Amino acid sequence: MFKRWMAFAGLILLVLTLGLAGCGGNQSPAAKVLKVGAEATFPPFEFQEENSKEYVGFDVDIMKAIGKQMGMEVQIVNTGFDGLIPALEGSQIDAIASAMTITDERAKKVNFSKPYYKSGLSIVVKSDNVTINNFKELEGKRIAVQIGTTGAEAVKKIKDAKVREYNSASEAYLELKADGADAVVNDLPVNEYYLAKGGSKDAKLVGEVLNAEEYGIAVAKKDTELAGKINKALDEIKQNGEYAKIYEQWFGKKPQ
Ligand code: GLN
Repeated sequence: MFKRWMAFAGLILLVLTLGLAGCGGNQSPAAKVLKVGAEATFPPFEFQEENSKEYVGFDVDIMKAIGKQMGMEVQIVNTGFDGLIPALEGSQIDAIASAMTITDERAKKVNFSKPYYKSGLSIVVKSDNVTINNFKELEGKRIAVQIGTTGAEAVKKIKDAKVREYNSASEAYLELKADGADAVVNDLPVNEYYLAKGGSKDAKLVGEVLNAEEYGIAVAKKDTELAGKINKALDEIKQNGEYAKIYEQWFGKKPQ
């Protein structure tokens, strides 16, 4: 009898706990949080501050400024680059701000904002490399890239290229350093930042900039209302000077 009573009490307790948890869940929508997916090893666009581990970068600041205009709090969700669009489609995140180039292929799956940054692809090789001076000379070479990126797509079109794909750009640079690759193909501002932050000790930029690319903020196809709000906020931060301020802070020059 006592055992049965205990079981019954346990059941009541369980129901109460679940009920309370449910209430807590119902209260949270009051805090308007915008979950923004980013692959956070891509400085100067999104990365973690060494000591605090806080997410920082151009995209992070732009999203915070956009969030402020929309009255929403931005929360960065660190996600592998090739997992960002699936996470958006699966509603784990509300938006992507990850130096993501607007491409026709991606635009079939997501809703892109107006472009917010002009970029392009470039090549990094070891300082003593004299054989690779442009994209043509990447033929037959071992090229390190980040998986799922426009850089990866571009090098796959190069004749006989031995493409090595990594989860992050930093792993691609490490492979170059370790002589496991002859070149890294990645976004120009990220290559420049890598070289400026110590990479130039044994690596250099070569050749022309390939593909004029533009970054966009992505939201789910069905989220047209959010897409509109983000575009409006982007216009506002361009008008009120906030965009230029953030741009200068990260790139040391006025927006192009
Ligand atoms: N801009 C490139 C792309 O969209 C790389 C972005 C990234 O690695 N974060 O594919």
